[in-house]
Amino acid sequence: ELVPLKRALLSVSDKTGLIELGQALAGRGVEILSTGGSAKALRDAGIEVRDVSEVTGSPEMMDGRVKTLHPRIHGGLLALRDDPAHAQAMEDHGIGAIDLLVVNLYPFEATVARGADYAEAVENIDIGGPAMIRAGAKNHDYVTVMVDVEDYAALLVELDDNGGQTSRAFRQTLAQRAYARTAAYDAAVSSWMAGAIGDVAPRRRAVAGMLKQTMRYGENPHQSAAFYTDGSNRPGVATATQHQGKELSYNNINDTDAAFELVSEFADAGPTCVIVKHANPCGVAQGGTLAEAYGRAYDCDRVSAFGGIVALNRPLDEETARAITGIFTEVVIAPGANDAAREVFAAKKNLRLLTTEGLAAAVPGLTWRQVSGGYLVQDRDIGQVTEADLKVVTKLSPTDEQLRDLLFAWTVAKHVKSNAIVYAKGGATVGVGAGQMSRVDSTRIAARKAQDMAEALDLPETPTVGSVVASDAFFPFPDGLLAAAGAGARAVIQPGGSVRDDAVIEAADEAGLAMVFTGQRHFRH
Ligand code: 5GP
Repeated sequence: ELVPLKRALLSVSDKTGLIELGQALAGRGVEILSTGGSAKALRDAGIEVRDVSEVTGSPEMMDGRVKTLHPRIHGGLLALRDDPAHAQAMEDHGIGAIDLLVVNLYPFEATVARGADYAEAVENIDIGGPAMIRAGAKNHDYVTVMVDVEDYAALLVELDDNGGQTSRAFRQTLAQRAYARTAAYDAAVSSWMAGAIGDVAPRRRAVAGMLKQTMRYGENPHQSAAFYTDGSNRPGVATATQHQGKELSYNNINDTDAAFELVSEFADAGPTCVIVKHANPCGVAQGGTLAEAYGRAYDCDRVSAFGGIVALNRPLDEETARAITGIFTEVVIAPGANDAAREVFAAKKNLRLLTTEGLAAAVPGLTWRQVSGGYLVQDRDIGQVTEADLKVVTKLSPTDEQLRDLLFAWTVAKHVKSNAIVYAKGGATVGVGAGQMSRVDSTRIAARKAQDMAEALDLPETPTVGSVVASDAFFPFPDGLLAAAGAGARAVIQPGGSVRDDAVIEAADEAGLAMVFTGQRHFRH
């Protein structure tokens, strides 16, 4: 587990903190190997260093293109110390173990950022550095790899805490960072090259992942597009089996993902159906059977459901398949489909059927989005609220039935673009308001949609009457809440936390509403 640090190789382009690190290592009795410029800087500071060229018996050559690419270095990084055959190879070939590798790469990104020409950019593609980083990181059972000046201080703390040794957890963390660095480095090279050779088609300028599919176009016909898998094998649209229908389009994939992620929230629930349009659910419902769930989801907003994406939380059966083929549907995704259901679908050549290996578990992970010049990275929103987390803030408490609907509406609201308002009744959404810049507008739009459905279906009353309502973030003013009460909602679920919570609670009490706070927000943009 704990590995003592006897020998280090320092090869850095950015010499920040190098001297301090060298001194600290030398002070702990660590032997230091180093390459040309790094060795010189250390030596100038009076630190004892061995040149890599002396270790390899081979000079640095070809303008530094070949410095450390040698078995005496790579063997020292890759050897399994406890394997007798590896130990023998080390002895036979005069290879000494390298326990610590400190490398930062040729500044490729900075070189292209300052507008270097093609030849200079190419010369700044570091070869030996990434090779050593990848070797050392692979052998993290024995080797500590540092690719970032920021980590130097942590290494010294680690050594002090462990009597000059590093722990496996520490080496693992650094190895993971090391691979992130080499991945980003190659991504930068490939992006630069795509631009330099004038090829901007996404299918050619991918930066990570495995190409799964090139598309005729992206979100719009003038945008080229491609689809990549990330190797995680998470059940979902990227790993699903397509049984029939045309190739999925960019928008199909995006919407199918939204539908599947939402239906996966209902892994432990009864039959549940989600219908998505433009990445927002336009109907989510539970039912005694899957077919019933589909019918109830469809009734939430029949107009939007046309040309939608349907996701199911259990295998597609014949009855449900028949119900779905009643209108034009783009994609159906489910954890399986029986033969009878597939036969029903076979008659609909354009309908795509995707089956997955189960539903997507709410496991931690990262999501990212591009902004000009960078990326935003965050944890996946796997926050879940149970009855025990709810705080009743009004005089009235919700009934048991309302409680079930409140939690149901809350789960749906998590998957609706903000500002999100979801009305629900009896385990089905009856109005969804999405993506508005004001919460009160989302509240009104959702209620109006319910009214439209009541008229279209000739219902005796608007479905929002006697419903519950979920809001993905707090009501900043009583107006949105009052609009929901006006539409007939009787109970409210929202995070709470507004400076005007008191006014909102008072308004809820006056309107005779029951309201619960979740303490958790679900913005989604
Ligand atoms: P130094 O300034 O010490 O001469 O060079 C340090 C840089 O050389 C580091 O950025 C390191 O990643 C890189 N480097 C180390 N070995 C090799 C190699 O064999 N070939 C190339 N191209 N770069 C190397």
